[in-house]
Amino acid sequence: MNTFCESLSHMAAPLLYLFSATLFILGLKRLGKVRTATSGNNLAAVGMLLAVLGTLIEMGLVDYQWMIIGVLAGSLVGAVTAYKVPMTSMPEMVALFNGFGGAASALVSLAVVWASLPDEGLVKTGTLASHLGATETVTSAASILIGAITLTGSLIAFLKLQGRLNHGKAILLPARHAANILLAITTIACAAWAGFFAETPLDIVLGILAFSACALLLGILLVIPIGGADMPVVVSLLNSYSGIAAAATGFAIGNQLLIIAGALVGAAGIILTQIMCVAMNRSLLNVLVGGFGEQSSGEGSTDTEYTTVTSCGAEEAAMLMENVESVIVVPGYGLAVAQAQHTVRELATLLEARNITVRYAIHPVAGRMPGHMNVLLAEADVPYEQLVEMDAINPDFKNTDAVIVLGANDVVNPAAANDKASPIYGMPILNVHEARTVFVIKRSLSPGYAGIKNTLFESDNTMMVFGDAKKVLQDLIKEIKEL
Ligand code: NDP
Repeated sequence: MNTFCESLSHMAAPLLYLFSATLFILGLKRLGKVRTATSGNNLAAVGMLLAVLGTLIEMGLVDYQWMIIGVLAGSLVGAVTAYKVPMTSMPEMVALFNGFGGAASALVSLAVVWASLPDEGLVKTGTLASHLGATETVTSAASILIGAITLTGSLIAFLKLQGRLNHGKAILLPARHAANILLAITTIACAAWAGFFAETPLDIVLGILAFSACALLLGILLVIPIGGADMPVVVSLLNSYSGIAAAATGFAIGNQLLIIAGALVGAAGIILTQIMCVAMNRSLLNVLVGGFGEQSSGEGSTDTEYTTVTSCGAEEAAMLMENVESVIVVPGYGLAVAQAQHTVRELATLLEARNITVRYAIHPVAGRMPGHMNVLLAEADVPYEQLVEMDAINPDFKNTDAVIVLGANDVVNPAAANDKASPIYGMPILNVHEARTVFVIKRSLSPGYAGIKNTLFESDNTMMVFGDAKKVLQDLIKEIKEL
């Protein structure tokens, strides 16, 4: 009986890991579409529960007291933050999560290193590699390095997104590329010395401390030169780093599931980074060297003066919309700020009742993170089939009667297509300027994320409707009802 129980417990952990890995992959697949995203999230959460159970079974007798305290404290902080955080602050929250993920990986590897050291500080007891094994030494070092970079890099990203560090702008230190290369070499040298040359436990610990401090500093220096405008790309990249750190930790402690989960996060993060780079017309290398904030810190173009802008109020806009047959709504960051997703849905329902076709054009980097607009509109139960991606909807603008640009700016700026001097030149945009009439709803003529003039506002077929997106939409609904 005992042998049966033992062999069952031997089999249980790998089986749970297998189910868990399968659920992670299925969950990730379902997260790729708005319609299936919630169930994908739930599947992955069940996968994580199975992973925890498998780990507990594999470890055998563990001290549950600290684990329960940890689970309760973590759940409480997670639940309160998830409940309270506004949609506009999601990128900051993701940045923090990445940082915590990187820190967790680094701490586990530090614990592995610490546990392998003999308790004889000054006595020569052999190198870390001779205690831990060469492979485990290298993978632990990789996990500490990437985890520490992810932690401090993510904290800087968090502070920049909140505008608490240099108002979110790039901090360009002199000779920063040379300094970063020098620091990276020093970091690797410290790791090599601690792992393969230091022979007393005290020297090994000092080497690891120096190595960790250098890695933490590297994380800061790699992210500070990047402007707030490009921070979401960096957050996505750091997300990938946190996955790679977890995978390295998996190798260090011999846990296959951590390797799989880490690899999934690492790959997903890098794919997302690449998608964002393409959508913003930036190269991935440009992101990796951490210097591209220079180009987009909001200082690219100082010419933000407008000469021929036509504006109207909600009443006139409603009258102009009286005879339209097709409308495309273009949501942008301002929609998130104004929290106008329910009001725009209300307007769409009203227009549809008047036999007007309404669709939403989704630019891949509208808002402050990929999928930002999809999530907001899904919250207001906008039918998925009305959300059309940029490439699919662009040919339709020229046949559209009215476009309502709702708190969007850079993603509809024709300068990206026809002004070679523009910092966003080459970024694919929604061709709203081709529509018959364009209503741009925003509070002022202030620039968007890229900090540059938008030539759309001066276009003959553009009407600016100034005001908070939600308030203007409410007025528009009222006026249309009175037509
Ligand atoms: P923008 O940041 O270009 O513009 C948003 C506009 O919203 C502003 O011009 C602002 O004008 C207006 N606005 C703000 N609050 C309100 C409000 N309450 N009511 C009405 N309007 C409001 O947004 P886009 O979505 O067009 O573009 C996203 C930008 O972010 C792009 O430059 C993109 O490259 C960048 N980016 C996006 C990422 C992503 O993953 N989504 C990642 C990295 C960068 P005003 O103040 O006059 O109201």
